[in-house]
Amino acid sequence: MFQIQNYINGKLVDPVGHTCIDNYNPAIGEVYSRTPDSDERDIEAAVEAATGAFPDWSTKPAQERARYLLRISDLIEDNLDRLAQAESADNGKPVSLARSVDIPRAASNFRFFATAIQHFASEAHAMEDTAINYTLRHPIGVVGCISPWNLPLYLFTWKIAPALAAGNCVVGKPSEITPMTAYLLSELCIEAGLPDGVLNIVHGLGQKTGSAISTHPGIPVISFTGGTRTGATIAATAAPLFKKLSLELGGKNPNIVFADCRYEEMLQTSLLSSFSNQGEICLCGSRIFIERSLYETFRNDFVEQSKQLTVGDPLSDTNRLGAVVSKPHMDKILSYIELAREEGGTILCGGRQVQVEGRCRDGWFVAPTVIEGLSHTCRTNQEEIFGPVVTLIPFDTEEEVVAYANSTPYGLAASLWTENLTRAHRMAGRLQSGIIWINCWMLRDLRTPFGGMKQSGVGREGGFEALRFFTEPKNVCIKM
Ligand code: NAD
Repeated sequence: MFQIQNYINGKLVDPVGHTCIDNYNPAIGEVYSRTPDSDERDIEAAVEAATGAFPDWSTKPAQERARYLLRISDLIEDNLDRLAQAESADNGKPVSLARSVDIPRAASNFRFFATAIQHFASEAHAMEDTAINYTLRHPIGVVGCISPWNLPLYLFTWKIAPALAAGNCVVGKPSEITPMTAYLLSELCIEAGLPDGVLNIVHGLGQKTGSAISTHPGIPVISFTGGTRTGATIAATAAPLFKKLSLELGGKNPNIVFADCRYEEMLQTSLLSSFSNQGEICLCGSRIFIERSLYETFRNDFVEQSKQLTVGDPLSDTNRLGAVVSKPHMDKILSYIELAREEGGTILCGGRQVQVEGRCRDGWFVAPTVIEGLSHTCRTNQEEIFGPVVTLIPFDTEEEVVAYANSTPYGLAASLWTENLTRAHRMAGRLQSGIIWINCWMLRDLRTPFGGMKQSGVGREGGFEALRFFTEPKNVCIKM
């Protein structure tokens, strides 16, 4: 069985303890590779390698660091198909999605930050004739990057690329549930000639390998994407060690539809924002609020089209949804559907596991599920499900829908559909979300600040925000 290895100090190595974790292909429900079950000794070796590489890497001209990142980006593109197949096998997502979204975006992450660092500048503050202040922004040292399973290579590289571009060295840990593309990335980094120790990838469990990163005194910065509860644990560990933290956490995003919207475009995009990647995107709109005069029309059309979304083998280009990531995750999704029933909801479509024929007969698939008849305050509408499950709720006034939308502890992304420009601007100001999409969803410009408020996170990724996060500002004041 294929054995994934850690990437430490430029080499592919087995974990010190020689123990492994099973890695499943969720579409067939079988173990197909083994992942290192690394512990604090592996993290120690990675920190040592990164610390050793830092003086040279951090003092290289930005253009030179950029050249390595561009080479990695090119290699990701050259290996598009292989990486897409691997992402699909690990995560269950349709290979067509991995080919068109996940892997191209991983390449873009490296390319974007390779060029962004060459445009990065720091500020100066002149005090008339008295003094001038200027800000230096130094790379910090060894950075810990911890990422989740839903967009594995996409989100892992979204952290690694800016950290490296800014001159830091990295100890990264991908999710133990989807380690394969991070492993393949380490092979590509070797091929790109990235200097030893600049990037280290250590595989393993969150509570063991991940927590060895958050407790290590040699890692002063942690960039984390994952669940809100894990974020709270990391914050509690890291705070007394005064680590710099960026936390990208869960969401329960509203998708708000006014009757004056461009209907067909809204309908098609809402199907995507509900069910893309099996609903396992932190930005998916899982609560759909529809102005009452449009409610019935929308419900009928949306349910009709949701039923037509094909669920099945991720290798087939005709399937719109693949498998969900694991058996425990499928059970969690199904238990939320049961909860929705108990809370008085009506399941309009889906609401069950899908049994697929042939190769995928033992895989973990869930039908696109649409639920109505629930209050915005019930658990189904307050807690993150992270699967192909959405609820429909009618509203009468703008005031009312803003209150519904803002009623959860989360604040990651919101979509708003209206042709009324004044209303769009007014609501954009009032919705408690870090990202507001008006008449669109997932339209991403990598220069914009990305992240959530409330329990959806602390700090922002993207563009110069990320480069600022991965550098330490130092003010220099010169008296005239
Ligand atoms: P998770 O929190 O279980 O795991 C995320 C990562 O943290 C994994 O690598 C895991 O091994 C590690 N980890 C777990 N416990 C740890 C600990 N005690 N110390 C250090 N590391 C630890 O999340 P998940 O189930 O992999 O991902 C799903 C969650 O991620 C959802 O809540 C989703 O909304 C969120 N997410 C957020 C964003 C965003 O940008 N805001 C993007 C994608 C996913």
